[in-house]
Amino acid sequence: MSEALPQSCDLLVIGSGAGGLAAAVTAAALGLDVVVVEKDSHFGGTTAWSGGWMWIPRNPLARAAGIDEDEEIIRTYLRHELGADYDETFVTTLLEQGPRMVSFFQRETAVDFVDGNLIPDFHGKSPGAGTGGRSLCAKPFDGRALGARLKDLRPPLEEVAPFGMNIGSGADLRHFLNATRKLPSFLHVLQRLARHFADRAGHGRGLHLVNGNALAARLLKSADDLGVTLRSNTAAIEMLREGDQIAGAVVEAGGRRQSIRAARGVVLATGGFPHDTKRKAELFPHAPTGREHWSAAPSANTGDGIRLGEAVGGHVEPGLPNAGAWAPVSLVPKPDGSVGRFPHLIERAKPGAIMIRRDGQRFCNEADSYHDVMQALFAATPPGEPAECWLICDHAFLRRYGLGRARPRPFPIGSWLQNGYLRRGDTIEALAAACGIDGAGLSETVTQYNREAEQGRDPAFGRGDTPYNRMQGDPEHRPNPCVGPIGPGPFFAVKIAPGSLGTFAGLKTDASARVLDGEGAPIPGLYAVGNDMSSMMAGRYPAGGITLGPAMTFGYVAAHHASGVPLANNRF
Ligand SMILES: Cc1cc2nc3c(=O)[nH]c(=O)nc-3n(C[C@H](O)[C@H](O)[C@H](O)COP(=O)(O)OP(=O)(O)OC[C@H]3O[C@@H](n4cnc5c(N)ncnc54)[C@H](O)[C@@H]3O)c2cc1C
Repeated sequence: MSEALPQSCDLLVIGSGAGGLAAAVTAAALGLDVVVVEKDSHFGGTTAWSGGWMWIPRNPLARAAGIDEDEEIIRTYLRHELGADYDETFVTTLLEQGPRMVSFFQRETAVDFVDGNLIPDFHGKSPGAGTGGRSLCAKPFDGRALGARLKDLRPPLEEVAPFGMNIGSGADLRHFLNATRKLPSFLHVLQRLARHFADRAGHGRGLHLVNGNALAARLLKSADDLGVTLRSNTAAIEMLREGDQIAGAVVEAGGRRQSIRAARGVVLATGGFPHDTKRKAELFPHAPTGREHWSAAPSANTGDGIRLGEAVGGHVEPGLPNAGAWAPVSLVPKPDGSVGRFPHLIERAKPGAIMIRRDGQRFCNEADSYHDVMQALFAATPPGEPAECWLICDHAFLRRYGLGRARPRPFPIGSWLQNGYLRRGDTIEALAAACGIDGAGLSETVTQYNREAEQGRDPAFGRGDTPYNRMQGDPEHRPNPCVGPIGPGPFFAVKIAPGSLGTFAGLKTDASARVLDGEGAPIPGLYAVGNDMSSMMAGRYPAGGITLGPAMTFGYVAAHHASGVPLANNRF
């Protein structure tokens, strides 16, 4: 039987991803009585499915490793990337409070981090671009520490987690890709699998939590440790007001409605609008009905927080160049008839895969970020046509790196060919026919690409030209980790649809995360964080981690504001 809902608290947090839980944990540590309501049956939101990377320049782990960047160089990069939308106040808050947030979580909570000291920013040719030390990931976490709470944590995203086992970025992933080629990698994978299956037998799920699952688990553990009241299956449906002040919310749990009053305010943290069809139709030009877009975020993220904010005077920032964090996805048929969304974040950059439109032509540097690849696809798609393309490779590539949900050797691929997810052709022309694309165009494209790829070059799009490209490639492939010829056959393809990792457009706030009304004045007692807050990157995507870094930082900032505890401004 579910526990009764409290009728009042100091701070009510709506949504349990990184933004909401960072605010909740910080506020509880500052002495507030905090309630978190979560609509889904699990806590963790998109955060629990994510890579868990947070962009926090000048963070304590980088500094401890001797990476001591001048703030000005980071500002230069952001000025270049954000153009007229560069907002000095938000940038200063991220640069000053981001590192403090990291130290706070390390010192006071169960949240801990590993460094991203080798991870470059996306746009290595822009002035001020970083080559490492600007990001962090959650440290792997032993799920046993969550005790009975473990069952409430959202499991990893099925599409990217073989047997429900998340693979950590970096060394863990490299071992998995080399498992059939190198003995140490084989032994690593064997040991990971053995532990995973033992955990599953004993606990119903894997316990070695990595990436975003570790971040959500660590935040959840911290919230429990600090006495935060956590309620799942409980959706906020209406805001409560007392005069101008936001005084709580009406929530619905098990068909019953109840008010929760919140003396210090309410934090909206429902993860943006990746599954709000109406708003997608308004803000995603490639999705005129809202249905031509397949977000990889969980289906419970239906834009509730933004609507709740608008109902009390908040407004959504219009006109961002990109209202979402675009990502190529493939649609994965499941035995129960549902469709999974596989986010293509990694294999595109490996040597020997290219992306082509139905005219058989390439349109982008496939090793660029997921967001940039999709922007290029939108630009290349003629008006009225669906923004779709194909990711193609040869047999050796497929078995070495995998292609979407069709995993590398030793995983079998027969079922993916049978259900049509994976297309196959003995020749390039036969593959084109299997995909319904221009065979002569594709043949000419592959011939031209291969002519240069033999030398490790890609003059058409410059694959491998940036540190980010090269990091995403195969470090063992020479001379260019991102470029290799395609062939001999057979050849394979997966269809790519427009998707996203989350949304960027959100409620306009100030740099204390207070929601602003149409006149730009803060609505007393109302905060928005995570993807309910309009992204400080204003629809640009300069680096991995630019949603979770600000989500954690502005959650921390909002909690200070609601608590009345001033933010310290001393530098690290
Ligand atoms: C595969 C993948 C990889 C990614 N990797 C990264 C990465 O490495 N770095 C990065 O920065 N970003 C990454 N992202 C994006 C990132 O995960 C999201 O932008 C981020 O998690 C959003 O955090 P949030 O707190 O705003 O929302 P969420 O984590 O989505 O949490 C919102 C929660 O609110 C709940 N909710 C919704 N409506 C209500 C309601 N009415 N009442 C109560 N609760 C409600 C939802 O159920 C959900 O649990 C990735 C995304 C995906 C899909």
